[in-house]
Amino acid sequence: MSDRRTSRKTIRPRQEGILAALVLFLVSCLGLGSVYYFAQRAQIDAVRDELAALASSLAVQIDGDLHRTLTSPEQMGSPDHLKALAPLVAFHQANPKLYFVYTAVLQEDGVHVVLGTDQVLRNERNAGPPDAIMAPYSGDDPEFTRALREARVITNSRPVTDEQGTFMSGFAPFLDSAGRPAGVVGIDMELSDLKTRLTMIRHPALVSLGVISLLSLAAGFMVLRLRAAAAIAAAHDARATEELRRAKEQAEAANLAKSSFLAMMSHEIRTPMNGVIGMASLLRDTPLNPQQLDYLQTIESSGDSLLTIINDILDYSKIEAGRIDLEHVPFDLRQCLEDALDLFTAKAAQIPLELAYSLAPDVPGWVVSDVTRVRQILVNLIGNAVKFTAAGEVLVAVDVAARTPDLVLHFAVRDTGLGIPADRIDRLFKSFSQVDSSTTRRFGGTGLGLAISHRLATLLGGRMWVESTVGAGSTFHFTITATPHTESVRINVGAQQPALEGLRVLIVDDNETNRRILAAQVRSWGMAPAEAASAERALLLVAAGERFDVALLDYQMPGMDGEALAGELRNNPATARLPLLLLSSAGRRPATGLFAASLAKPVKPTLLLAALGEIFHRPVAAPAPAGPAAPVATLAQRCPLKILVADDNPVNLKVAQMMMQRLGYRTDPAADGCDVLEAVGRTTYDVILMDVEMPELDGLQATRRIRELFSAGDRPWIIALTANAMPEDREKALAAGMNDFLTKPFRAELLAAAIERAHQQLTTPAA
Ligand code: ADP
Repeated sequence: MSDRRTSRKTIRPRQEGILAALVLFLVSCLGLGSVYYFAQRAQIDAVRDELAALASSLAVQIDGDLHRTLTSPEQMGSPDHLKALAPLVAFHQANPKLYFVYTAVLQEDGVHVVLGTDQVLRNERNAGPPDAIMAPYSGDDPEFTRALREARVITNSRPVTDEQGTFMSGFAPFLDSAGRPAGVVGIDMELSDLKTRLTMIRHPALVSLGVISLLSLAAGFMVLRLRAAAAIAAAHDARATEELRRAKEQAEAANLAKSSFLAMMSHEIRTPMNGVIGMASLLRDTPLNPQQLDYLQTIESSGDSLLTIINDILDYSKIEAGRIDLEHVPFDLRQCLEDALDLFTAKAAQIPLELAYSLAPDVPGWVVSDVTRVRQILVNLIGNAVKFTAAGEVLVAVDVAARTPDLVLHFAVRDTGLGIPADRIDRLFKSFSQVDSSTTRRFGGTGLGLAISHRLATLLGGRMWVESTVGAGSTFHFTITATPHTESVRINVGAQQPALEGLRVLIVDDNETNRRILAAQVRSWGMAPAEAASAERALLLVAAGERFDVALLDYQMPGMDGEALAGELRNNPATARLPLLLLSSAGRRPATGLFAASLAKPVKPTLLLAALGEIFHRPVAAPAPAGPAAPVATLAQRCPLKILVADDNPVNLKVAQMMMQRLGYRTDPAADGCDVLEAVGRTTYDVILMDVEMPELDGLQATRRIRELFSAGDRPWIIALTANAMPEDREKALAAGMNDFLTKPFRAELLAAAIERAHQQLTTPAA
């Protein structure tokens, strides 16, 4: 946040304007100055060239021999003097802009002026008498001396000042008849002339300076205006960003408030729900007449749906608040699919509805992703498909959509139900929206399931979409990005099961999808399937002389059902000994001993493989079905424990105590954390079932105290029983020192499992 302030440069329009004007002015002045300097130099150079040319043209007119004869002031006014002076005077008259024209010679004692035009043309500024012949030169002009010494044409490089003014001079040597240098002529030009020439360039320079000043001012002003506008815009921006930040903070706070409100509501609803569901399950153990049993079932299923709704809302709020932590753990994809389908087999059988699934051969058995979330999406979609389909089938298909190189798995849940009107599809994945509100009345639901699933699919690196035709059914698709789990074995059973190769299988099912899936499955084990869409067709195949090694018969078929078909086959000598497998909806068990085995639909490949292995005495490595669970009533005998139950809510305390009683335990009650501490001071307990939120001293505080009071070996095992269902609640409980965690409302089986875990931990040495 703070670097937002520092990173933005403050704008100072006035300073920046002045700076810009100043910089522009100085740069322009520099340019103008150098132009002026070079123009001035050029002017001076022109004057020097002119002086050199004039001096040279005069030098050739001087008679060196005559000049040499003039050596003393007495010769002033002599005919030789006047003759020698004549060309100088004529030259001076021809060039009136010259101030003085003269000749000079260099002698041992210095420079001596010999001839000077002022001897004829009086110079009004020269107050004294004109220089006499051989008058010593009193000025200080090194270039004059150099011209004499070196006998060459030289001009002043800069103006020279003496008592008569400031001049530029040019010097040129003249020769005698023998060609020897006899002296130097000098011409002086007054600087006023040069000055006149320089003013010609000075005026435009001054005008330019004025223009530059004005332009600089204008530029500075423009910069000031522009920067002032930028400053205003920046201030606007800053204000907008600030407002945005505040709005975001508010929204986040509101979201957080919503989430904590929902978490609290969930807690508040779960607490009495625990009473309802717990008591209902206890009621089941009492003698009930059929009508009471029916009422009880209604209570239980209502309780279950209420719980689903609470879980949905809680889940949704967690996703909204971005508080979903995804797992990345390897899991068995087929198992995940079967677990999801298992929840609906009973319901599908009632409708009745065919429930089937298929996994494309290239789908890896194990993948790394979040199994709970994948299952949750599947349960949701399959649940909807079953809910909105009155007849036909629900098929779940999984294939590989892409390898990029991450695996993109594509799931499709297809039903033959109501379908969804095209104009309603876009509303489907929005929260709390149902295709039409009458569905709620007919089918129930919160309209959250798809919104949650859609978001979960996105979180899992995929997307969700739907295709639907009203009256024909819907297909809900979703993808997830997963990584194949290379280390685990390919569980896609059968690839390494040559024992069944070549065996011929007769598949009898009226449902085409089922036949197709079963055929593909047995084919993957190397068996040769033949399909029949009805019992009658199957009998025709047999009558036509086809021979089979085993037959898979669907139980429920229009016309002759699976059991009747089995009877027919037994009566036919050709098939009297044909091993038969019955495929039936869960809960239906054939009474007759016609079948080698009966498999619940949707048929799990592992179980089908095991059944086939059994028939052909070729046991295959299929997981043995879980043995019947030990009767729970004996739990107290198997795991004798001294247990304390703490809950401030009397109903829930009673539920927990009675459930424990049903497991064979006599438990002591405690109404709050203080009670718990008192009880553990009096008696030694192995296990404490501890509510988390209690008045006075809550479960977490009580747990911390117990940890302080007891050493690691003597501490009771503490199981949290709480209506707080957020993942962080679990972490909090474990951090406080609790050993296990159960969410209310809890089921007797989960409670029993937790007690068993406790017993195991307490009896394992150095646990
Ligand atoms: P709900 O808990 O109400 O079922 P969902 O978000 O799961 O909430 O579903 C929203 C609505 O989408 C349902 O009420 C139903 O109108 C429609 N819908 C969902 N799945 C299907 C389906 N397979 N066939 C027809 N309609 C469906």
